[in-house]
Amino acid sequence: MSQQWRRNTLLVHAGTPALGDIEPTALPIFPSTSYRSRSAQMLDQLMGGEIEGFSYARHANPNVEALVDAMKQLERAETGIATASGMAAIDAAIYATHVEPGDTILVSQDVYGASLNLLGTVWGEMGVKVVIEDFTDLTHFRQLLEVHKPRTVLLETLSNPLLKVLDIPQIVSLVHGVGAQLIVDNTFTTPLIMRPLEWGADLVVHSATKYLGGHGDAMGGIVLGRDEYHNRLHQYLKLRGAVLGPFEAWLIHRGLRTLGVRFERQCHNAAKLARILQESQMFSRVFYPLFADHPTQAVAERLLPADLGGAVVTLDLGGGKEDVFRFLDHLQLVASATTVGDIYTLCLYPLIASHRNQTPEERAKMGITDSMVRISVGLEDPEDIALDLIQAASAVRISDSLVIQKD
Ligand code: PLP
Repeated sequence: MSQQWRRNTLLVHAGTPALGDIEPTALPIFPSTSYRSRSAQMLDQLMGGEIEGFSYARHANPNVEALVDAMKQLERAETGIATASGMAAIDAAIYATHVEPGDTILVSQDVYGASLNLLGTVWGEMGVKVVIEDFTDLTHFRQLLEVHKPRTVLLETLSNPLLKVLDIPQIVSLVHGVGAQLIVDNTFTTPLIMRPLEWGADLVVHSATKYLGGHGDAMGGIVLGRDEYHNRLHQYLKLRGAVLGPFEAWLIHRGLRTLGVRFERQCHNAAKLARILQESQMFSRVFYPLFADHPTQAVAERLLPADLGGAVVTLDLGGGKEDVFRFLDHLQLVASATTVGDIYTLCLYPLIASHRNQTPEERAKMGITDSMVRISVGLEDPEDIALDLIQAASAVRISDSLVIQKD
């Protein structure tokens, strides 16, 4: 499909079925692990990469290709792969940037906890130095680049759980200024509200398990970038084998077709929810990227489209772990679950989930308190979500000054 179409049109149509003369509107699922060749010569050419086509499911699959094709158009990428999970996508992206023993990876302290663990364990054990730092102050960031001379830099578009937005266009030019490469995890913003490749980032990764799939029923990852990364990304899949299955590819691709309406509504719901919760005064702090008191609000205003500040709100309940457990156990509508991006509203407690492997000192340095919960806002009516969060909070801290009206 042509690149001239606008974003919502692309979302609904992109991802060309590779079926020759048959043109079903919904692509069938291809579970086949191998493909019968029309001739030995054709198989030889396929295996040698001289012609495109399908030979073995670890190398290529029509459902996976359709999904990757759609994502390439949405993120304006030249090449891409789909992986078995978001973690595999991050791993593949790092591999694609030729990180070797003795090299340094510079990573934003605000990325997903498991991404920090992946770097520190798998890559750290290979002899790669991992430097974890705060990227919000660009003068400090420039110094970090000069001191550590990293091969690769990793950051997220909207950090988790503090919802910081980094100045990616500026960071791109600083990173390229020292000959390093930038990987951006775009999971929390999706190509609907951020397209880091357009600002010059080298690779973009997604946990497709989140907003892209959107329904909490398929795990996957995506890596996208320029042609120069093509061979290494595909080599990663062929040799490490962390490929996306055809059924998961099909589900994620189906989810992608409604991303436009889902994500926009979820962003609006998050904005409304954040306002109601702020006014309720039931929480010691409400974090939302476009609030005036958010530390990166000015950057968020500049880089995000108006009124689309992502679909996550973070709450500090005050108190400690016992209070948060009581809050979680009192939730009736909101699911206490360890993910983000589904159509259902979800609440995650970083201390026991995304950041459980960080030490208390590391969490304190990041600004993550023991009483913070992250709300991934779904498609329910925001007033109902607020009602549930406030009643659970009042089980922790009884307040009778509060009245929320149901429609
Ligand atoms: N990147 C981000 C920002 C995430 O939040 C997650 C998971 O929560 C991942 C990557 C890893 O994705 P997956 O769980 O699909 O492996």
